[in-house]
Amino acid sequence: MARKIGSRYTAHQILGRGSAGTVWLGEGPEGPVAIKLLREDLASDQELVGRFVQERTALLGLDHPRVVGVRDLVVDGNDLALVMDLVRGTDLRTRLERERRLAPEAAVAIVADVADGLAAAHAAGIVHRDVKPENVLLDMQGPLGPGGSHPALLTDFGVAKLIDTPRRTRATKIIGTPDYLAPEIIEGLPPTASVDIYALATVLYELLAGFTPFGGGHPGAVLRRHVTETVVPLPGIPDELWQLLVQCLAKAPASRLRASELGARLRQQLPLLAGMPPLDVDEPDEAEADDAEAAAAGPAGPAYDDPAPHAARGGGRRGAVPLVRGSAPDSNRDTHTSMRVPAPDELAGGARGTARAPRAAGVPRPGSARHRAAARRRRITLGVAGVVLAAVVGVGTWVATSGGDADATPQDTETSAPAGP
Ligand code: ADP
Repeated sequence: MARKIGSRYTAHQILGRGSAGTVWLGEGPEGPVAIKLLREDLASDQELVGRFVQERTALLGLDHPRVVGVRDLVVDGNDLALVMDLVRGTDLRTRLERERRLAPEAAVAIVADVADGLAAAHAAGIVHRDVKPENVLLDMQGPLGPGGSHPALLTDFGVAKLIDTPRRTRATKIIGTPDYLAPEIIEGLPPTASVDIYALATVLYELLAGFTPFGGGHPGAVLRRHVTETVVPLPGIPDELWQLLVQCLAKAPASRLRASELGARLRQQLPLLAGMPPLDVDEPDEAEADDAEAAAAGPAGPAYDDPAPHAARGGGRRGAVPLVRGSAPDSNRDTHTSMRVPAPDELAGGARGTARAPRAAGVPRPGSARHRAAARRRRITLGVAGVVLAAVVGVGTWVATSGGDADATPQDTETSAPAGP
């Protein structure tokens, strides 16, 4: 089933499928490569092809050992393909699903690698905007590092931005994987390098805990939590590591560390984490969270459409989800959101650190039934406010959309979807 891609490459077999297309094991003049063949609807979009060609230099110019290099861009008939370095291994999502949570040393080593890759990108003026475990590849042929981890490389640079840039004539819609979205994106502010730091800190929390800090339940609620809630401490996490996480999950982008500093600070902690087993953290009770979201949505149903039942999304935490009634999960690449701008005190809360006091005896453990019950009461209150907010946003979006110029509205956010089967 070999297939020619342009005049120089041959695709041999499928390595994996993602939201933007299919990744093939291929062969080029300089040996084996990975070829990401973009979906047909993307490849036939002339405006999108134009953007890829325009960004060609930036895409090809990023050369760092912790970044999966893009070697070539092929535009050939109906094919639009990115030719990349071949990484022989697996992605971080696959490893996390297998192990459920990682030992702190391994988690920190992986995230430090990704921070190094991000530092190089940010220095070159490139923001990734879609940092998540699916976009971290583990090179099984590379040397074993701290905690027995293989080198980690960040992939898909710039692709989200190219694919998601809104177009003038498009209706505005919200689509996204909410778990990793920085609050400022949800507020409609322009994404800067610190959105990558927030997403990477979310990944670190997830590797340690087995779940993301603000994920779970209805996607609308996830977005709201990013903006309004503080991150719940992980029992047993060393204090210095926790402080780093809190700083990088700050609501205020300027309070987060830069990528190079994050990488260095994480590496400093590695000796202290050696031999530590994975944290003993209970998975939050998602059924209860869902009850709360359903209650919050009120008798008229959720404020946003949820395309698939929680379980049907494979654990329910991630997935391409339309946040506007009637939109298909990943059939539209334009993304747009407009939630209320948080009050200054909420931003300052993040800036000063969002850690709550460590759990004392008798205090509900994060994720326990008692903890979720308290959260439920809080969310029901927030949810009622959310329904009102959604109605206001709905009207605003309708007005913006009927104006016919998406550029007049705040701007896009990320589109992302789970790796395909
Ligand atoms: P997503 O859109 O979810 O980020 P991708 O389209 O980037 O997914 O990749 C889909 C799958 O293809 C990955 O999970 C991985 O298994 C494989 N893959 C992607 N890039 C490479 C690469 N450079 N080398 C080897 N395998 C890759």
